[in-house]
Amino acid sequence: MPGKFDAVIIGSGTNGLAAGIRLQQEGLKTAIFEQAASPGGATRTEALTLPGFRHDVGSSIHPLGLASPFFRDLPLADHGLQWVYPQIPFAHPFLDGEAHACYQDIEATAAQLGEDRQAYLDVMKPLLENWDKIAPSILGPLRFPDYPLELMKFGLKALPSARNFVRNRFKEDKTRMLFYGAAAHATLPLETMASASFGLVLMLSAHKYHWPFPRGGAGMFTKSLISYYRSLGGEIFLNSPVTEIRDLPNTYAYLYDLTPKQLLEIKGLDFPWLYRKRMQNYRYGAGVFKMDWALSEPIPFTNPKCRQAGTIHLGFSPEEIERSECRVNRHQVNPRPYVLVAQHSPFDATRAPEGQHTAWAYCHVPHGSITDFTAEIEDQMERAAPGFKDTILARSVKNTQQLEQWNPNLVGGDINGGKQDLGQLFTRPIASLSPYSTPDPKVYICSSSTPPGGGVHGMCGFYAAERAIKDHFR
Ligand SMILES: Cc1cc2nc3c(=O)[nH]c(=O)nc-3n(C[C@H](O)[C@H](O)[C@H](O)COP(=O)(O)OP(=O)(O)OC[C@H]3O[C@@H](n4cnc5c(N)ncnc54)[C@H](O)[C@@H]3O)c2cc1C
Repeated sequence: MPGKFDAVIIGSGTNGLAAGIRLQQEGLKTAIFEQAASPGGATRTEALTLPGFRHDVGSSIHPLGLASPFFRDLPLADHGLQWVYPQIPFAHPFLDGEAHACYQDIEATAAQLGEDRQAYLDVMKPLLENWDKIAPSILGPLRFPDYPLELMKFGLKALPSARNFVRNRFKEDKTRMLFYGAAAHATLPLETMASASFGLVLMLSAHKYHWPFPRGGAGMFTKSLISYYRSLGGEIFLNSPVTEIRDLPNTYAYLYDLTPKQLLEIKGLDFPWLYRKRMQNYRYGAGVFKMDWALSEPIPFTNPKCRQAGTIHLGFSPEEIERSECRVNRHQVNPRPYVLVAQHSPFDATRAPEGQHTAWAYCHVPHGSITDFTAEIEDQMERAAPGFKDTILARSVKNTQQLEQWNPNLVGGDINGGKQDLGQLFTRPIASLSPYSTPDPKVYICSSSTPPGGGVHGMCGFYAAERAIKDHFR
């Protein structure tokens, strides 16, 4: 007989927390079991370098946290969440000292693009106007859409590879680089079909919502979710690794915020052979090499647009970015990686002692790589911000193995809970009518290994909870 709890969630990442909140909202009694000493999974802030400096070990910039149809309606501001909006969502510097910005204002963005001005507006503006109609389909499982025509128009633009997309639509290399900066978040080779979709969604999210981050660190986002979850009566047990089903109280539903590899390792789960086999075939993607710095001054970017942006993408020609993402996925080392950089302290004084600063960055690396990419990342930083190395007071680095030790969901350093190519984008973890369900009617998966995949949006947790509610509590 089920005891104290109606449902139990294993893992307190943003998806586990979203699942817990959704179930509590339904009047159910839930608990979350988290293996780590602190909650939040890949969304935590820690003191990694010197006293007084606060760093986001994992996720940092949260446009999808704001765009999420579920998180958007939660009273997180009442639970301590404050969004910080840098002047510019993201920027892309070039070797000639110029830079393009992706402003929230689509016209201002297009105005920088020279010959590509109209082409940019032609592709982005209709999608932006229809964002509210297409977003629920993009941020959810495969199903018949409410607005099929609008979704089809998005699909036609999103289906090509990012490389074909920029080559067919834009004439200027600088416009191509701006788009690649967003598209390469996919961690896929840019010639992969549908890799354009990531560029489109991330640029549209910048125009629609900006690219904000939580004041005080990504951990404050987690903190606000936990505070709200507890206010609804939810309970969290930290330092509670779940290795077998016997570790858990008896309930109606178990929602695992884990990736397939870890789920299959839980002892006592009675899955049929064929399901295990299909889950074993689940593919993980490339990893990341993560860096955090304590700095004596702000990053000395040559271009003022970069100094005003929260996120900066580094890659100094379209070919350089293409090569970077292609090599990584072929398990090759890359001397000039595409680098994602975030700077918080110029806009959020809580991150560093007065007058000093932090910086956050990562580059994609082969799955499971233990190579140290410090020199490669810092060399790329120097090209956009000469003198950067002289501002470094301390640094913290994490290769893919260290990331996985910090959070076991980061298998081989994959930050998206599995490869997000066309074969696994909507049919993750396996092709199924209900991707959140498993052959055990009590067991659900609610991590980013389910649709819509990686990112701090909580929609995987939300949809898994909806499924459990439908199956057991209605
Ligand atoms: C370096 C890095 C940078 C990123 N940058 C961004 C960004 O800027 N913006 C963005 O939107 N996304 C970003 N992401 C991706 C985003 O963080 C993830 O997609 C998201 O956090 C996934 O949430 P989740 O709940 O599915 O899993 P996770 O956050 O990974 O949570 C899983 C939880 O389960 C726990 N757990 C695992 N095994 C067990 C067990 N056996 N028993 C109990 N608990 C267990 C883990 O400790 C963890 O707390 C980044 C990720 C990383 C690592």
